[in-house]
This record gives sequence, structure tokens and C-alpha cells, in this order.
Amino acid sequence: MIIETKNARETYEVGEKIGRKARPGQVYTLMGDLGVGKTVFTQGVANGLGITEPVSSPTFTIIQEYEEGRLPFYHFDVYRIGCIEEMDEIGYEDYFYGNGICLIEWANLIEEIIPEDAISITIEKDLEKGFDYRRIRIEGMEEL
Ligand code: ADP
Ligand code: MG
Repeated sequence: MIIETKNARETYEVGEKIGRKARPGQVYTLMGDLGVGKTVFTQGVANGLGITEPVSSPTFTIIQEYEEGRLPFYHFDVYRIGCIEEMDEIGYEDYFYGNGICLIEWANLIEEIIPEDAISITIEKDLEKGFDYRRIRIEGMEEL
């Protein structure tokens, strides 16, 4: 599925719909260059799950946990991970195979441990279509 957005609000709303639909145990991977809208999208997901506290990038902690929503929300950013053993150390399996929702930024760096049924989301710019245009590709989900 491909969704095109014209501004940050629309990208937020795509995330929101995914958050509202998310079922226990679902893992989402989120890819895209710096400044493309990963945090905007993630904030939408969190809102869709009923989380009201502010969501930012967990860049220095690998994982940020939010418990106040409809389901626990685990936001990973593995950009600074040195080796896969660091994921073992934080006990990633309890998160990936638990009943909460996982959203993993830079998941390509830990590809070997991403569950097969993860839903893959990639956000891209296309400057020919304007500065605020984004193409959001979602694999593993039929509709929003
Ligand atoms: P990332 O987390 O991927 O580094 P951010 O979500 O922090 O990116 O920032 C995205 C920036 O791009 C924000 O300033 C946002 O307002 C802007 N933006 C412009 N158009 C869009 C769009 N269509 N979708 C998402 N963000 C957009
Ligand atoms: Mg970000």
C-alpha cells in the first residue's frame, strides 16, 4: 500500500489510523532518512493508541515505553546500536513477542531479529513533487 501526503498533518493522521487499528503483539518497522517525518508519524501512532504524553525520539536509550494507552507502546530507535547483543541485553524478545505494540526506527540495522510478520513502513521524499510531499509505503497491511 502506498499513501502520499502533502503535509505533516496528513502523515500524522496516517500514523493515527495505524495506532487505532493496531492489535496486540504487532511489530512495525519504520524507515526513512533524517527529517522525512518518522517522529511525526510515530506521534500519530501514539495518539491513535490513546497516549497523550509527548513522544520524541529515544535516540539515547534504544527504547522508550509508554503504558498509558490502549496497549503498551514500545518505541525503539536502534540507530546507535553497536551489535545485536545489545538487543539481547535489553530483553527485546519480551517486547517483540509480547502483547504491546512495537515500532522500530532503523530496523534495517537489526534485520536478523525482526519478526517475519512485522509491518514495514518506509517514508520517502520526492522533491520533484514539492518540499512537503511524502510517499509512505506500507508492506504487510492491506488497508488503513
Ligand atoms: P524524522 O523523525 O524522520 O527525522 P521529523 O518527524 O522529526 O523527521 O521531522 C519531519 C519534518 O518534516 C517536520 O518538521 C515536519 O513538519 C516536516 N514535514 C513537511 N511535510 C511533511 C509531511 N508530508 N509528512 C511529515 N513531515 C513533514
Ligand atoms: Mg525522529
